[in-house]
This record gives sequence, C-alpha cells and structure tokens, in this order.
Amino acid sequence: CGIVGYVGDKESAPILVSGLKRLEYRGYDSAGVAVVNRNQLNVVRATGKLRNLENRVVQDQPAGNIGIGHTRWATHGRPSDENAHPHTYKNVAVVHNGIIENHLSLKEQLRAKGHVFSSETDSEVFAHLISDELDRGADLPDAVRAAIAQVKGTYALAVVTSTDPNRIVCTKDASPMVLGLGQGQNFVASDVPALLEHTRDFVYMEEGDLAVVTAAKVDIYNRQGQLVNRPTRRIDWTP
Ligand code: GLU
Repeated sequence: CGIVGYVGDKESAPILVSGLKRLEYRGYDSAGVAVVNRNQLNVVRATGKLRNLENRVVQDQPAGNIGIGHTRWATHGRPSDENAHPHTYKNVAVVHNGIIENHLSLKEQLRAKGHVFSSETDSEVFAHLISDELDRGADLPDAVRAAIAQVKGTYALAVVTSTDPNRIVCTKDASPMVLGLGQGQNFVASDVPALLEHTRDFVYMEEGDLAVVTAAKVDIYNRQGQLVNRPTRRIDWTP
C-alpha cells in the first residue's frame, strides 16, 4: 500500500516511520521497516496501527543510514507480523505494492531448489528471486531486473541488501513510485505526501523504470536498460 525509502547521513528508521504516517490516510493493516547498518540488516514489523511499529522502533533502535518501509494492505495472506513487509531472504529485504499473479508457480520452483518461505504473501517471492541472482554473481540492479523478468503482475518495489549497503534499487509497473531528491540524501516513496517534509523536488518514475538511489545521486534506467533522464518537478502544493 505505502512505500518509503531513505538513503543519506541520518538515521533512517525515524524518517521511514514518519513518512509512513503521512501515507496513513491510504489505509493499512500492518507496517514495517528494514534498515542496513554496514553489513547487517535490521527488520522491525508490527500488525495494526503505526503506533505499534513506532513503539518497537523506539525500543529496538534499529541503526542504519539506509532503509525501506511499508504499510501493507493485504491481498495474499492474512494481516500478521509474519506477513508484514519488509520481506527478507538471506541478505535481501524488499517492500512491494501490488500483486504477483504467478507467485504460486514461482514459489513451487523456488521450493524445489530448497527455498523455505516465512510468509504467506506473494511479495516474499521477490526477496528469494533477487537473492538467487545475487548468489549467481549479479549486482543488485541486475538481480532486480532478472527477478522482475520472471514475475507477472503489478508492482512498486524497493530493495536493499546488506552485501551492497549503500544503495536502494526500486522499480515499478502499474503501481506508483516517486523519487524525492535531497542534498546528500535521497528518498523513494509510493506517493509525494510521504516526503514533503524533506523535499519538494520529485521525479515520477515511468512504467518499467528502474532506479538506483544513493545518498549522492539517482540513476534511472528504462525497461530496455538504457540510462534515461526524467524531468524533476517542483511541488508547490501542501496536502
Ligand atoms: N500483495 C502484497 C501483500 O499482500 C502487497 C499488498 C500491498 O500493496 O500493500 O502483501
């Protein structure tokens, strides 16, 4: 339902939770964040109100200057802590909006290779597919490309991995995704209001775009893998 991502020099978890709060009006049943600290992935999730997630974040203090967060509106699998995003497999964490239509056959193929799933969601498949590609030697952008090539459905997807801890890779098809541009920090979100307290400069990703987001810059590639320029829009309105 809602996605927020941050990479910069600040602690990411409070920024992620506050961004998710600004998307609360869209509705959700659970929420979570995954932050990367050097080579460690810290995940905190909670069913119900964002207040529950916030309490856990205050308690656990997950550290890291890069992270992704999600509010979930369940389509596959009941609302629960296990089904809340981010979903992780090995060193990979993903947040996903949308529906993977062929998740059952993908899960079957992955199980045959020894994968064990820890949720009932369609979304978890992304973490497994991306992890396999990384194991095969792909870098994170190529691993995400290879994963989405196997998926049928709709998605806005943001991915981090503790083995490549300085960038968020995100991509979208039929679900909205924007990039928020800052100074020495950059943001990802499913919708502009999530980020207006931090920036007014936005790039709207187009269908099939894949973005590689670091603290210093944002590179966007189209479906054909070509580096492209998308216009930056200045947002003057206040929600
Ligand atoms: N299909 C996914 C799930 O059920 C994503 C739902 C959403 O867009 O929040 O977890």
